[in-house]
Amino acid sequence: MAYVISDACICCGACAGECPVNAITEGDGKFVIDADTCIDCGSCANACPVDAPAEA
Ligand code: SF4
Ligand code: SF4
Repeated sequence: MAYVISDACICCGACAGECPVNAITEGDGKFVIDADTCIDCGSCANACPVDAPAEA
């Protein structure tokens, strides 16, 4: 399992700084999570102002 960031992302960057394993990087128009690195902790979802990250 991994979290996935939806198109609701506004590229604020808040989630990337909260990820303990640095799985989040800026992609094309939204931030993206590397599924192989994500440990499913939920910190990104808690940090996001628009609830873009969700469990896949
Ligand atoms: Fe990083 Fe945790 Fe979000 Fe996965 S769920 S991308 S490990 S902050
Ligand atoms: Fe996108 Fe939410 Fe991450 Fe901000 S915190 S970059 S809106 S997913």
